Amino acid sequence: MLKHTLGYPRMGARRQLKKACEDYWQGRIGRQELFVTAQRLQEEQWRLQEASGMDLIPCNDFSFYDHVLDMSLLMGAIPDRYAPVVTDIPQNTEADLAFAMARGYQQHGLDLTAMEMTKWFDTNYHYIVPEFRKNQSFRLFSNKVFNAFDAAKHLLKATPKPVLTGPVSFLLLGKEKEPGFHRLELLPKLLPVYIEVLQRLRDNGAAWVQLDEPFLGTDLPAGAAEAYSYAYAEIAKHCKGLRTMVATYFEGLRDNAELAASLPVCCLHIDLVRAPEQLSSLLPLLPPKMSLSLGVIDGRNIWKNNYSRSLEFIREAVNVLGENRVMIAPSCSLLHTPADLDLETDMDEELRSWMAFAKQKLIETDELNRIFQGDDSLLHANTAAIAARAASSRIHKPAVKARVASITEADAQRASAFLQRQVLQQQRFRLPLYPTTTIGSFPQTADIRSLRASYKKGDILAAQYDQALEAATRDTIRLQESIGLDVLVHGEFERNDMVEYFGEKLEGFAFTQHGWVQSYGSRCVKPPVIYGDVSREEDMTVRWSVFAQSCTSLPMKGMLTGPVTILQWSFVRDDQPRAETTAQIALAIRDEVVALEKAGIGIIQIDEPAIREGLPIRQADREQYLSWAVKAFRVSASGVQDATQIHTHMCYSDFNDIIRHIADMDADVITIETSRSQMELLEAFADFRYPNEIGPGVYDIHSPRVPTAAEMESLLHKAAEYIPARNIWVNPDCGLKTRKWPETEAALRNMVSAARAVRAAVKETV
Ligand code: GLN
Ligand code: ZN
Repeated sequence: MLKHTLGYPRMGARRQLKKACEDYWQGRIGRQELFVTAQRLQEEQWRLQEASGMDLIPCNDFSFYDHVLDMSLLMGAIPDRYAPVVTDIPQNTEADLAFAMARGYQQHGLDLTAMEMTKWFDTNYHYIVPEFRKNQSFRLFSNKVFNAFDAAKHLLKATPKPVLTGPVSFLLLGKEKEPGFHRLELLPKLLPVYIEVLQRLRDNGAAWVQLDEPFLGTDLPAGAAEAYSYAYAEIAKHCKGLRTMVATYFEGLRDNAELAASLPVCCLHIDLVRAPEQLSSLLPLLPPKMSLSLGVIDGRNIWKNNYSRSLEFIREAVNVLGENRVMIAPSCSLLHTPADLDLETDMDEELRSWMAFAKQKLIETDELNRIFQGDDSLLHANTAAIAARAASSRIHKPAVKARVASITEADAQRASAFLQRQVLQQQRFRLPLYPTTTIGSFPQTADIRSLRASYKKGDILAAQYDQALEAATRDTIRLQESIGLDVLVHGEFERNDMVEYFGEKLEGFAFTQHGWVQSYGSRCVKPPVIYGDVSREEDMTVRWSVFAQSCTSLPMKGMLTGPVTILQWSFVRDDQPRAETTAQIALAIRDEVVALEKAGIGIIQIDEPAIREGLPIRQADREQYLSWAVKAFRVSASGVQDATQIHTHMCYSDFNDIIRHIADMDADVITIETSRSQMELLEAFADFRYPNEIGPGVYDIHSPRVPTAAEMESLLHKAAEYIPARNIWVNPDCGLKTRKWPETEAALRNMVSAARAVRAAVKETV
């Protein structure tokens, strides 16, 4: 059986690529040094995969920024505005052009905006969205894939396997930049370039090529099935002698199984971690010559593989297809896992014995084959490790499980309906019309960050640390009072990250030192690991909220991260359903909400920016997800009195299609991103007659630009066309932690002026 991977993490175990790219962008290193770092990383990764027994080794999975962006370059789908980057500035290379497309370009008198970026299916990776025009033409532009193949061929004895995004997925990933056509109509113009690339790879000696078609796991749009049949027939016709593997992942093939099995390709890769049930139904559909690559090792999580389970899949496939038509692989590219568990020297032995990062997953892929060939000792060791984890008392807390099991409908329900709560809350807080507030965080300056770092390292004492945080909090409250905000926040200076902060205080979470995963470009995230039943043993935020409230007579908003967002931005357990883990977190947050209320905090915000990210890929699964996700939020929010006001916050996604569920969360106030779309989102809220209060963000916090009061005033007037004035709040789009103080203060002063102006206008019309 051949063993292979679909792709490998690019950054390097110590994030060498991130550092090299950022140094290059800042002018600290030259192009040569960047290229040498990249070359060295790729060679290391290739050698490692070869040494671990992989037979087919991906190349061209590496990218300076993003692999979909690289496809736009390969196909010559480069928006016209970037032409001067190479034509006018001859020293620029293809990498500079890629960076310009990904990040914008403000040099040599040019001022070019970046291409759009969006999430890669249901992962936290973001890709650069290809741009297509009606008269779009394609041509072979980039040599990256050929260079990568040649380099791998020279280095390796194993077979290098160039990886490309397949033609149908490439088109579907993109966006029409003008009306009057659908991007799939471009396929006949695109295919000749694909065929040229594949022929050239074949002529250079490539035996295999991997074409990623993750859309085969989705609900296909009209015309896509035909596009698949046409594209792969053309490729088969023109690329004889080249073995093609079509890779699917993140979901099962389901209704696309017959289509996938009908494609004239040599091998189909399927994700058996996400969709184990698809194997049995797919096997009878495979034509006699097609091989099947079994994605049995989780490419998206950090747990050790359960060998006996994987072996069942392998045996089932081999029984039908025979050994030489079966391959073993991780479920998807290892891009989504951290690089190397061996670097986690601080983690305790027991926890570490449950995990596998990318490097360890290579070993697992190889070991599965050796066990299949009869090496029982490897299997026994794995079975013992899996059993030890399943039985560990660190994971299972009967009291937590029992409490989740006994959650009732009433626990997910505020005492009274919103309209009754609203009256009580108005009486209690006496806020003006268009009340002003912020989303939580205030600028995290270098001083604050180094303060937290010194405390973590043990360089300063807890008392000193607390004192400094109190001072920062107090100053921020004074400033908010002077600006004239109505509902204040403490500023979140004690938090490094909105999920990590809570994870560190909750039971059941672990943290890594080097568990970085690429999010976009050079940006990486280090998700916590939820390994056991989650419980809250002590207050998490009460101390800071109480201190902050003691500094002011204005209402102070308590600030929490919601259960779905904590789940979504962590590595999750694979031994219980996500819904169960989320319910445990929801109870912990609920206890914190109640504790805040007891401590005198009357307004509490539970952030859920990631609720939409958790949406399943398939439409058919969405209702079920939304129902447990919304319920988890409601459980976290419903332990309080009617007069306590619950806020939630969401950002950076399109909420139109889940508006009903957002309403179902029944937060008294929702603050939401709208300023970049000029309040377009509000139409959905208006059409639906969203019943509760809303703070549509009136300015974009992702830019240092200070909006004028007049701009924000006109946005508020626009909002009032859609939403009754008594339900409108005034706030920025999101937290201010990435901004600097001067622009923050100026923008908030303008925002308060805008709110005052609209209030005055309302008075005049009354
Ligand atoms: N309360 C958080 C903050 O202000 C919310 C961040 C977010 O929405 N991502 O930073
Ligand atoms: Zn936000």
